[in-house]
Amino acid sequence: MSEFDYDVLVLGAGPGGYTAAFRAADLGQKVALVERYPDLGGVCLNVGCIPSKALLHTASIIDEAAAMEQHGVSFGEPFIDIDKLRIFKEGVVGKLTGGLAGMAKQRKVEVIQGVGSFAGPNEVTVETEGGTRSLSFSNAIIAVGSQSMELGGMPWGDPRLMDSTDALELEEVPLRLLVVGGGIIGLEMACVYQALGSSVTVVELTPGLMPGSDPDLVKPLQRRITKKYEAIHLETRVKQIDVDDKGLVAHFEGKHSGKEMFDRVLVAVGRTPNGSKINAESAGVEVGDRGFISVDAQMRTNVPHIFAIGDVVGQPMLAHKATHEGKVAAEVCAGHKSAFDARAIPSVAYTDPEIAWVGVTEAEAKKAGLEYGVGKFPMAASGRAIGNDRTEGFTKLLFDASSNRIIGAGITCPNAGDLISECALAIEMGAEAGDIGMTIHPHPTLSESVAMAAEVFEGTVTDLYIPKKK
Ligand code: NAD
Repeated sequence: MSEFDYDVLVLGAGPGGYTAAFRAADLGQKVALVERYPDLGGVCLNVGCIPSKALLHTASIIDEAAAMEQHGVSFGEPFIDIDKLRIFKEGVVGKLTGGLAGMAKQRKVEVIQGVGSFAGPNEVTVETEGGTRSLSFSNAIIAVGSQSMELGGMPWGDPRLMDSTDALELEEVPLRLLVVGGGIIGLEMACVYQALGSSVTVVELTPGLMPGSDPDLVKPLQRRITKKYEAIHLETRVKQIDVDDKGLVAHFEGKHSGKEMFDRVLVAVGRTPNGSKINAESAGVEVGDRGFISVDAQMRTNVPHIFAIGDVVGQPMLAHKATHEGKVAAEVCAGHKSAFDARAIPSVAYTDPEIAWVGVTEAEAKKAGLEYGVGKFPMAASGRAIGNDRTEGFTKLLFDASSNRIIGAGITCPNAGDLISECALAIEMGAEAGDIGMTIHPHPTLSESVAMAAEVFEGTVTDLYIPKKK
């Protein structure tokens, strides 16, 4: 018999936390999963990836139906029943969180609802509805995630000022929406609200949208949304928002200045880790100034029997990174010699078109002085993209110049997020351009563009004419 209540206590039930808990239980550990909210799944399932994708699907159908007019098929103006759409979205979330609760039960993972914090190196206290519970553990996995960053000087508390969670509530479709932050969340939500009927303005601090991805990947999206949105202001910040009976008045500063009234404002300027909120210090766990917790490749913090995974250990703050880290931590708790050694973690913006990238970006390759070559295949030369009337994007592969091995990839087109997995696998497997080009891809698909980009790099492509260099 162990001297502790649990072999593994997992704090936080987002994609990282529930994966860690389930994997640990599957490996024979006695597991507690502590979560503050009644539903499992964390931000991703409840107020992030999943509901936003449900709404983005709706948005893309609205846009596609409208685009059909060019092809001789008219559906007329859509009638949007916002309440029904919200109920659908809630149903999607409910199905998934319900599934998680069922799987936790099947695995005999004890789910404890309440706010947990450390009380010592082997003890967590949980503030539950029924009072405070003290739980002891042999190993703990911190999976407490992150939260939206709040901009100072804003009238938080006014329901018209929203973070991403509020925006996903879909309370109403504002006539004029201001999106502060041209990153992934801002641009995904802009896409949803514009399709539902809002007139959208985006304000971004830096010179380009979606900083971190290659600017050429973003260009086709920027061109498309510049036509659809009211305005996109780069190198501009919102310094203040005033409350008015009729709306929120935003004061701009930078390349674009002045003030304007909006019906609602969404602030999506990044996320901040929750590491400082769990009294980790009482367990001896070091937490950085900004709330991040450092870990090694086995996901151990400076306290060897306490692990941390997901957003709280650093960028990229992505669910699929967290789940992989969660599995590693659970396996190490169960005595396995696992380690996190992914060569690449894909990123996807589920905008329209989608933008996906993995491995080294071209900007990073240049900055690091890498010797690399590029193979780029435009969707304008893809039969499938032409048939879809969506020729604006491309697939770009980066290869190490001496080994011809793929080191990075970027794709812009509808469903780029699905296409990027092949490139992630190619990087993991150390594939060379020839391996990718000679893999027979089904025709006609957008996935062919991956093989053809490799052929462009190799100089063997026949679907494009590239004059030989003299
Ligand atoms: P982000 O960091 O991707 O983008 C925030 C943007 O806001 C940046 O472009 C930044 O320059 C800009 N900004 C910052 N301060 C500003 C200001 N005062 N005025 C105007 N612009 C300002 O952050 P996010 O979009 O909030 O997303 C947060 C995290 O969630 C990211 O780590 C992202 O990876 C993750 N996420 C991923 C997905 C996905 O995988 N599809 C979806 C949503 C969120």
